[in-house]
Amino acid sequence: MFQPSLGAEELAAVGEVFASNWVGKGPRVAEFEARFAAHLGVGGGHLMSADTCTEATFLAMRLAGVGPGDDVVLPTVCFVSAANAVAAHGARPVFCDVDPRTLNPTAEHVEAALTPATKAVVVLHYGGHPGQVDRIAALCTERGLLLIEDAANAPASAIGDRACGTFGDFGVWSFDHGKIAVSVDGGMLHARDPEHIERGRKLAYLGLEQTSGFAQAERAATRWWDFEVSSFSRRSVMNDVLAAIGCVQLGRLGEFLTRRAEVSAHYDREFADLVDIPPPLPAGHRGSHYFYWVQLPPHLRDEVARDLYQRGIYTTYRYPSLHRVAAFGSTAELPGADHAAERTLCLPMHQGLSDADVTAVVDGLKAALAARTAGVAR
Ligand SMILES: *Cc1c(COP(=O)(O)O)cnc(C)c1O
Repeated sequence: MFQPSLGAEELAAVGEVFASNWVGKGPRVAEFEARFAAHLGVGGGHLMSADTCTEATFLAMRLAGVGPGDDVVLPTVCFVSAANAVAAHGARPVFCDVDPRTLNPTAEHVEAALTPATKAVVVLHYGGHPGQVDRIAALCTERGLLLIEDAANAPASAIGDRACGTFGDFGVWSFDHGKIAVSVDGGMLHARDPEHIERGRKLAYLGLEQTSGFAQAERAATRWWDFEVSSFSRRSVMNDVLAAIGCVQLGRLGEFLTRRAEVSAHYDREFADLVDIPPPLPAGHRGSHYFYWVQLPPHLRDEVARDLYQRGIYTTYRYPSLHRVAAFGSTAELPGADHAAERTLCLPMHQGLSDADVTAVVDGLKAALAARTAGVAR
C-alpha cells in the first residue's frame, strides 16, 4: 500500500553522520530545513523541523494559542493526529463534511461548521489534492480565523506557484515511513509569522532559553551551563541521522513523483470505464499522487477488498471518519463523508511498484469486479 524507497545513497549519508560523531540535532537538520524551505519556495525563517509531523501539529496548536473554550473545525476525513492535537490542548474538535468524490472539504463545508467559539480551521489535502485550500484560506482571513494545513499528503502539491501548506497561518508535513519522501520519522512546520518559528524552536527544546552549550560558552565567561525555562514543553527536535536520510530523499522527490504519476495515469486508463476514479484536478492545481482511490457501490466495496486481499493485494480506506470515533464525542451528521466511507477503496500507490505489481492490481480488481457483477450483468 505504502512503501519507502531507501537505498545505498541514504545509507551512505547515514554513514557520513556516524563518521562525524555528531548524531544529534546539527548541520544535517539545518540542511534538511533549508532544502525543504527552498523546495516550498519560502524563506528559511518560516520553517522548522520536528521529530514527527504529529509533534509539529501539536506545536502549531500551541503557537496558535488554541485552548479550553475554543472550537477548531476540521474535516471528519482527517488523520487522527490533528484531532488529537486539538483535544489535547483542551479545545473542541468540530468536524465538517467533505465532498464525497474528492474527500476534501469545500469552503461551504467549513463555513457550515463554524461556531461563535471557532478559533481555527484545520484542512487536509486528501491524497495530495489541494482541494479548496485557497478559498478556505480566504474564508478564514475574512472571519479572523487561523488556518492550519495538514500537508502530510501534499509535499509537492500547489495551486499556481503556491505550495500547499503555505496558504494558512501554519502548515505541517510528515516524513514518516509511509510517506512519499521518508526520513524514517520527521516533520516540518511552516508559519506565516517568523516569530512563531522563533518561539517554536524554543518550545521544541523543552522551552529552554539556551540552545547550545557552545554558543552559551562564547557569550558567558563563566557558568555557561545555567539556563532559563520560558515554557513547559517537550523535546520535539529532529536529529542528524534522520535529517541526512531526509536530505537524500528530497533530492529524489521528483523521481518518486514521476513514477507515482505514471502509476496513477495507468490506473485511470484501466479503471475509468469500470468504477469512479479520483476527479481530475482543476486547472492550476498540482497534486502529489499520495493516494489513488476508486469508488464502488457499498455492497461491492467490502467484497472486492476481501477478494483482492485473498489475491495478495492489500487495500484500505483512509481516513475513517473522526465524527464516528467515540472519543471525540461528535453528534454531527455528515452525509458526504458517510457516502465516501461506504464506497471508497485506496489501492496500492507508491514509487516502488513495478509494472508487474501494477498489472497485478489492475487484473485483480477487474477479476474481483467481474466475479461480483456477473449476476447483475445477466
Ligand atoms: C502521516 C500523517 C500524519 C502524521 O505524521 P507523523 O510524522 O507520523 O506524526 C499526519 N497527517 C497526515 C495526513 C498523515 O498522513
